[in-house]
Amino acid sequence: MAGFRTRFAPSPTGWLHLGHAFSALTAWEMAGAAGGEFLLRIEDIDRTRARPEYEAAIREDLAWLGLSWPEPVLRQSEHLPRYGAALDRLAAMGLTYPCSCTRADIRAALSAPQEGAGSPPEGAAVYPGTCRGRPMSSRRPGDAIRLDLARALAHAGPGLAFEETGPAHGGRHVLDPARMQAEIGDAVLGRKELGAVAYHLAVVSDDAAQGITHVVRGEDLWEVTPLHRLLQALLGLPVPVWHHHRLIRDDSGRRLAKRDDARALRAFRAEGVTPAELRARLRAAETTR
Ligand code: GLU
Repeated sequence: MAGFRTRFAPSPTGWLHLGHAFSALTAWEMAGAAGGEFLLRIEDIDRTRARPEYEAAIREDLAWLGLSWPEPVLRQSEHLPRYGAALDRLAAMGLTYPCSCTRADIRAALSAPQEGAGSPPEGAAVYPGTCRGRPMSSRRPGDAIRLDLARALAHAGPGLAFEETGPAHGGRHVLDPARMQAEIGDAVLGRKELGAVAYHLAVVSDDAAQGITHVVRGEDLWEVTPLHRLLQALLGLPVPVWHHHRLIRDDSGRRLAKRDDARALRAFRAEGVTPAELRARLRAAETTR
């Protein structure tokens, strides 16, 4: 197994912005410091939002920043059967169920008074389990597939742990079932469109297929890491070390996410900003928090 192999795994659903540049550079620099490898992976399983021009721009922007990676690059849309096989395995283990709930159903169930439980805390978005227990044979077109988290945790057994080296969570973490129930719940692994899987399954499957030893990514994905660790245990996959880096914020302190109207790297490029200036800007944004 390679000593250090990491990846930058953007979804080609928009232009790369400063937050992406920071993520890619963090992974790149960690790989460089460890004498390891840096891979690019295109997470294009969301066929409704992924666009070829965004994918081309990802390559262009990263090359402009001074990064390079081995080709060919893994594109998730070319590996759907592998993800489907992982989902089938979890289903065969009796750990999944089909779910026909719409977002509106879930909202309604969450706000309905629950016996003895009071109302859910503000912002709780965890699936209430309406369809839990439905057999997989009852899957209808348009149903999603969820992981039965309680069963999955019981199946994997206690004491699952992972290592983290990031600034906010550095150390060894043992999975906490109660916390996972509260924060993650029965996650969707198979999407409504037949054959489409959710991000969690694809990312875990790819990290194993690519021999990723260190997952370097943003703090926004910290919360789902226990789920990824659990899926690795259930599927018998190797376990990487995680490093969740801080998120870059804009001048008003708002987190830069793709959905925000964040400034694209190409806009800085068009203004004549050099890669060195951009890196300096990112370093400053990181240290002024
Ligand atoms: N594709 C994910 C994103 O764009 C990143 C996945 C990961 O690094 O695990 O947010």
